[in-house]
Amino acid sequence: MQGLMIHDELLISTILRHADRNFGDQEIVSVTADNPLHRYTYKDCFRRARQLANALRRLGLERGDRVATMAWNDYRHLETYYALTGSGYVCHTVNPRLFPEQIVFIINHAEDRWIFVDVLMVPLLEKIAAQISGVEGFVIMTDEKHMPETSLKNAVCYEALIGGESDEFAWPVFDERSASILCYTSGTTGDPKGVLYDHRSTVLHAYAAVAPDVMRLSSTDCVLPVVPLFHVNAWGIPFAALMVGSKLVFPGPKMGDGETLYQLLEQEEVSLALGVPTVWLALLQYTTKAGKKLNKLNRTVIGGAAVPESMIRAFRDKHDVVVIQGWGMTEMSPLGTVSTPKFGMESLTPDQLVAVRAKAGRGIYGVEMRIVNDEGVELPWDGVAYGSLQVRGPWICSGYFKLEGKSEAHTADGWFDTGDVATIDKQGYMAITDRTKDVIKSGGEWISSIDVENTAMGHEGVSEAAVIGVPHPKWTERPLLIIIRAEGADLDRAQMLAWLEGKIAKWWIPDDVVFVDEIPHTATGKIKKIELRKQFKDYQLPS
Ligand code: ADP
Repeated sequence: MQGLMIHDELLISTILRHADRNFGDQEIVSVTADNPLHRYTYKDCFRRARQLANALRRLGLERGDRVATMAWNDYRHLETYYALTGSGYVCHTVNPRLFPEQIVFIINHAEDRWIFVDVLMVPLLEKIAAQISGVEGFVIMTDEKHMPETSLKNAVCYEALIGGESDEFAWPVFDERSASILCYTSGTTGDPKGVLYDHRSTVLHAYAAVAPDVMRLSSTDCVLPVVPLFHVNAWGIPFAALMVGSKLVFPGPKMGDGETLYQLLEQEEVSLALGVPTVWLALLQYTTKAGKKLNKLNRTVIGGAAVPESMIRAFRDKHDVVVIQGWGMTEMSPLGTVSTPKFGMESLTPDQLVAVRAKAGRGIYGVEMRIVNDEGVELPWDGVAYGSLQVRGPWICSGYFKLEGKSEAHTADGWFDTGDVATIDKQGYMAITDRTKDVIKSGGEWISSIDVENTAMGHEGVSEAAVIGVPHPKWTERPLLIIIRAEGADLDRAQMLAWLEGKIAKWWIPDDVVFVDEIPHTATGKIKKIELRKQFKDYQLPS
């Protein structure tokens, strides 16, 4: 027997309609290339999204067609998100930090019909225009005054495109399983793979994100996503924040600029900011150098890479800011775990709490987790056993776009293998020890490069640390620690090794330490270990 409830499709346009009605006066503040501080309301945003939806229809787009965006975080990008998905087209967010050949690959693979491009990224597309000839036209996201000269064919100015359109548009109703957003993984090896979200998964993910033990989002919050809209939908913020009516602040092209971020955080009274560890490193360095304190921010969600304890402490001790670590991935929309304390942890000491926050976190409702060994046998949640981390749930991909049935990442019993190696403790807190491909195998045992890196980062003379395995005649591999010194620090090898002594298992202590000026990063801000391993493949460890 079925229940007797109204069946409403869970469509992204329902968030827009709810937000429009209930939080119409809420503000959205953006830095853009043509305006250092643009300010308007939800009402304005949705009015313009409806105008854009009319314009898109006029372009002859059909339901399910892919349209790309390549842009920084700002209000026009947000309008495009809603207009595209609300109309039933697929919003394909392109990461401009990928290699040009990867960008060419994904635009062609997605068969994008049009591209919405930030005025600052026009030169990037001009260079590859000949290789993406299937694209019918380009919408340049600026006003007529700032419209650049361009060799791109069918280049239209965003403001001109929507200017004459009616602001009345009835958002269509369709199957909630229809595709909404397409986002490619950065693909450190092989071609990027397309993860295709649907409306239902996007709405359910937003519901999960706002919960108190996840991001604790509400209409009294002011949210600044430093994580880009072109990287897993800025972790779902465009949907979660609008669902509850939070004020939004978009840093536009200034996301890597510590000073601008600091000013926005203070002036706009941001209560929650989200980003990968490297951007917070830049902000913390700026505040230290400038002798400034974050007075308004009360929490920050950090994920995408392991968060070192030293960062959790710096935010707590210098700025009274709580760090909420999250773990997830493009294939997971991206939220998987969040490391918030739970009932029974009230009496933990501040140090014990830091240890909890330094874990990747516990699974949120909607994400089931298990760890398995090489034979696929499930391992206990004891905080010691480590194995391949597998997940399943309604916002986790079941396959890759146009690779139907060819995903090696899915198990026969319907789980997605994340490619991460993890432990899960009795309380359900998961900790990532490594990515499968970065694991260091020493004498048949695994060394967690993440633990070694985080411990090294705890030394004040260290700005960034990476650990890789290098070949060793006896142990197969031994760890090599690669360090960027903090500005002005004169840390040496012996001091670094002495610092690690007693803090990690003796046999995890790296065989050597090298100091470098730069550590390569991927387009999504992770340390590019593949590159480091190449760079140090012939490195001779001291015997
Ligand atoms: P990419 O496009 O580079 O694959 P993703 O954001 O999808 O980018 O990367 C997901 C991966 O990032 C995870 O599988 C994991 O290895 C790593 N990661 C994300 N969050 C954390 C975290 N809190 N701790 C450790 N690793 C993390």
